[in-house]
Amino acid sequence: MNKYIATNQWGTFFGVTQKTLDTVWGNLTNPAGDSVIYISMEIGADRDVYHPIKKMLQQTDIDKTSTNLLRHFAKLYLNGPEKIPNYGGGLGILAGDTLKSFADLKIPAIAVSLLYRKGYFSQLVDSRLGQISTATDWSPENTPTLYLMKNPEFPELPLEIEVPFYYGRDREVLARARLWLKMEVSANLDYFIPEILLDYSIPSSPDWIRQVSQSLYDSISDQAKAVQRRLLGASIVTIKKTLGITANTIHLNEQHGVVVVLNLIAEWLAEKIGANYPVKATDADILQAADEVAKHLVFTIHTPVKAGHDRFDKNIISQIGHAFCSRILHLLAQDDENPNQYNFTKLAMRVNRATNSVSRLHKCVTQKQFPQFADKITAITNGVHHLTWISDAKAALYDSFTELKNWREDPAVFVNAGLLFTSEDFRENFELAWKEDTKKLISYVNNMLSLHRKQMHETWIDPPNYLSNLDDGEHVLDPAVFTVGFARRFSTYKRADLIFDDMDKLADIIVSHNYPVNFIYAGKAHPSDEPGKSIIKLVLDLQDDLYIKTNGLGKLIFIPGYDMDIAKMMVSGAHAWLNSPKRPLEASGTSGMKAAMNGIPNISTMDGWWVEGYHEGKTGWKFGYEADIDTACLSEAPSTLLYEQDSAAFYELFPEILAAFYETDLRSRYIDKCIYNLQLNCPIFNTHRMAAEYAKRYNLQLPDPVAKRLQKLRNIYQSDV
Ligand SMILES: *Cc1c(COP(=O)(O)O)cnc(C)c1O
Repeated sequence: MNKYIATNQWGTFFGVTQKTLDTVWGNLTNPAGDSVIYISMEIGADRDVYHPIKKMLQQTDIDKTSTNLLRHFAKLYLNGPEKIPNYGGGLGILAGDTLKSFADLKIPAIAVSLLYRKGYFSQLVDSRLGQISTATDWSPENTPTLYLMKNPEFPELPLEIEVPFYYGRDREVLARARLWLKMEVSANLDYFIPEILLDYSIPSSPDWIRQVSQSLYDSISDQAKAVQRRLLGASIVTIKKTLGITANTIHLNEQHGVVVVLNLIAEWLAEKIGANYPVKATDADILQAADEVAKHLVFTIHTPVKAGHDRFDKNIISQIGHAFCSRILHLLAQDDENPNQYNFTKLAMRVNRATNSVSRLHKCVTQKQFPQFADKITAITNGVHHLTWISDAKAALYDSFTELKNWREDPAVFVNAGLLFTSEDFRENFELAWKEDTKKLISYVNNMLSLHRKQMHETWIDPPNYLSNLDDGEHVLDPAVFTVGFARRFSTYKRADLIFDDMDKLADIIVSHNYPVNFIYAGKAHPSDEPGKSIIKLVLDLQDDLYIKTNGLGKLIFIPGYDMDIAKMMVSGAHAWLNSPKRPLEASGTSGMKAAMNGIPNISTMDGWWVEGYHEGKTGWKFGYEADIDTACLSEAPSTLLYEQDSAAFYELFPEILAAFYETDLRSRYIDKCIYNLQLNCPIFNTHRMAAEYAKRYNLQLPDPVAKRLQKLRNIYQSDV
């Protein structure tokens, strides 16, 4: 056990051997530069859903030979907080899943993000007020896997870096950050990806910097937003120098960190022209620098939705950045619609050697949105980290069938799931594992309902669920009832309320067939997204309507505080996973992939990954509008969201789905659908395959066994066709 403690000039770390630590750091500082800096505004990787080090500890005895240091780590890792609330949703969880796969596959990378001392926000839900947001309390100081990096020259002091901000012409203010190193270890503890989280909430940083760096996607003002972006992007060059990172490639996970491009251009010009470059550089020099810098950048764009693309008023930028930044932006990031704004997405689009969209359909959409860059836009369809999202019960099941041998190391093994269609043993045990997962979800909901019922008398919060108001005994959910899961960010284009558009119609379907249904919903809306919040409120308001109109057969539940743990319970315990965005605004979507990993069929509009994951009659169901992509269909205006048309399509389909679940003679076909998900979707929609596709874009020279493993994963599927 003592072998799992390792030390270098940056600190002492637990969970990997000295040899692994030296290898990881050696790869990142290697003169050849064969590694990647992965920049993301958020990284989601909570320990309560996946924690290889804790698992190892639980299987080992801490005995007398253990040192005090080991006892300290063991105690921290076994009992410390599990949540690291440094993410808002899909983008961050994708980043976390990606980095876990990088670690498993030994792809040399280091990630950079910010540390948010107040997290994103914690969601309370009140039936009258809807969503209430409060700051999230957590302390990185006692969170396992997080280490404050040391200053190698003064090891008793933490390492600090500086990022300059400018007021007007000359006045320079330094924002200072401490560096937290978070370890994303591989499943076998034989590699890890360091994630550097920048903590600007420190005494030596100016007050206003500390304020705006506390909450992810702080939306107090556009200025706060621009400052946050700069705190991330403008730190990269300094971190690279301070830590001696040689990476030749920088991967922008969405455009939030694109300010790095400005620094890289300045760095290139300083080298070519000299320190006086801000005065001497011509426009042609800047454009040449941009072309050179572009060779080192890979950009992933995640959404066609306008709110996802950063545009800033020019005067905001000129208040915080050096005057030379504005000159670069003028040449490379002039917004096409608004002459007073810079468009950071355009900058990221312009300065890179490859732009990836996140599904095949999204590639087509992105090419329509950015026709001038169409040639370099490719697709790498998203995935999820299979080891994180497959439930314990399902994992034990997969372990026990030789047809799936080695699925943990190689998710491509699931192509063999086709051999299991005829195994009665597998089918029976699949149902048992599924029942266990459903029971877990339903007990969670039932406990929540009675807890809220109690709180109703003790606090001012009106419970978010109608069922909490009913008499005891009536307000429980039954795990045998068909349970539909829906959870995602509440923004209008995702249409969380779509299937309730005509409540009479929905109730009629449920009542006339006498098929009870649980609808279990969860998700957050950004605190300043008023339309998004009003959809949460609407969902709450629909609960009693559904219950009463279906004589109690239809129950609609809202689980507050959506996070990875709740997500995992939902995607493994539901009987079907619902996804109803307006096509083609969902670039990929990942929660449906998590369901597929657990064998659960999706019911979805033909958007995002489902265009690739849907196989007629096999993996699930599709409904709704499906025409070709043109610019008009990108509208997010309420009147263009196709409620009537797409909900009608759902009502036409729903009776068939209910029958498939409830009718005994169709039951075995339902289990077939689950096995089809394992066979057709698990091998593809995982981050191992996705990481292998990215590694090719990074042009890394990797050791033979690593390169071979990646090639094998790419042989299963190529997103870009
Ligand atoms: C997977 C996940 C998401 C993203 O789901 P989408 O289907 O991509 O919208 C958001 N939040 C949590 C907590 C998740 O686990």
